[in-house]
Amino acid sequence: MPVDYICSMITELRSDTFTKPTPAMLQAMFTAQVGDDVFGEDPSVNELENYCANLFAMESALFCPSGTMTNQIGIKCHTQPGDEVICDKTSHVYIYEGGGIAFNSGCQVKSINGIRGMITADEVKDSINPDDVHKAATSLVCIENTVNRGGGGCYNFDDIVAIKNVCDTNGLKLHLDGARLFNALRATGENEKQYGEIFDSISICMSKGLGAPAGSILLGSHAFIKKARRVRKVMGGGMRQAGFMAAAGLHALQHHQQKLLMDHDHAKQIAAALIKKDFVGKMLPVETNIIIFELKGDEAPNHFCEFMKKRDILCLPISSTQVRMVTHLDVSAQMVNDLIHVIDAM
Ligand SMILES: *Cc1c(COP(=O)(O)O)cnc(C)c1O
Repeated sequence: MPVDYICSMITELRSDTFTKPTPAMLQAMFTAQVGDDVFGEDPSVNELENYCANLFAMESALFCPSGTMTNQIGIKCHTQPGDEVICDKTSHVYIYEGGGIAFNSGCQVKSINGIRGMITADEVKDSINPDDVHKAATSLVCIENTVNRGGGGCYNFDDIVAIKNVCDTNGLKLHLDGARLFNALRATGENEKQYGEIFDSISICMSKGLGAPAGSILLGSHAFIKKARRVRKVMGGGMRQAGFMAAAGLHALQHHQQKLLMDHDHAKQIAAALIKKDFVGKMLPVETNIIIFELKGDEAPNHFCEFMKKRDILCLPISSTQVRMVTHLDVSAQMVNDLIHVIDAM
């Protein structure tokens, strides 16, 4: 293995998607039993799907190449062309999936002006169209937990239950974009089964903070997943010996979940150093592994990120005023300390 693979000199804070497999994960992949998953015969994929379905106490699960695909398949299976999907204005499904809701499902969006990417039951209720030929039929609500653009914030579970009640009363399905659900669960002490009970479908990512190279899981009922399996094939997401990736995902779920708490602690330490600086403006509350903050001055995010890059620290400018940093498996305590020294000296 090349040396730079094992001990990278770069502190990568642009996203938690940059993690590379650990030697133990590579070993799990290397020794995985595989078969043709399009025939349903890959034992490692089947094991991961069963493991996740049991974890959430949901009937069935489907392994897909990406979280975009699990979200888009979920939306496709819950809607008809011409329907309306309710979500926050900063939802990943709406602003970061290439217009997929329109492209794949032929639906339009009613976007809610939520707070930090989180919406309320009342807002959902007010966004449902009446049964009127002029209006699109509202059929689905999508929420995100943790909220990506909302700085990794976590919903209060009671607020999700309230949204679920509005959905039930009005015959709407409820989908969870849980790309970072495990960050939320470990931060709040909630558990997977609470979520499995509430949602019609859940998407979880192995390739964010959990540290697998690729792969997401879509969860739902038997009938839903049967339909989803067909849509996955149509979208070109049926992979053959996908067990090598599934083995990485299972390893991530079994060995990297507790490490998420360390990422959260690292994020809080970095945030505490940043907030002391007078060039740092408003910062979103840091609840998990994402730090989003404003910088004062023209072009400040670009200048800040260039300054950091010269010191081998990579951050992401996400708007004309905001910078994002994300902690993960490959950001060590030493890297966090070094970064804090750089910030302190600025
Ligand atoms: C990363 C992410 C996804 C899925 O992204 P992929 O890169 O397609 O796996 C979905 N939702 C949120 C909130 C994300 O952060």
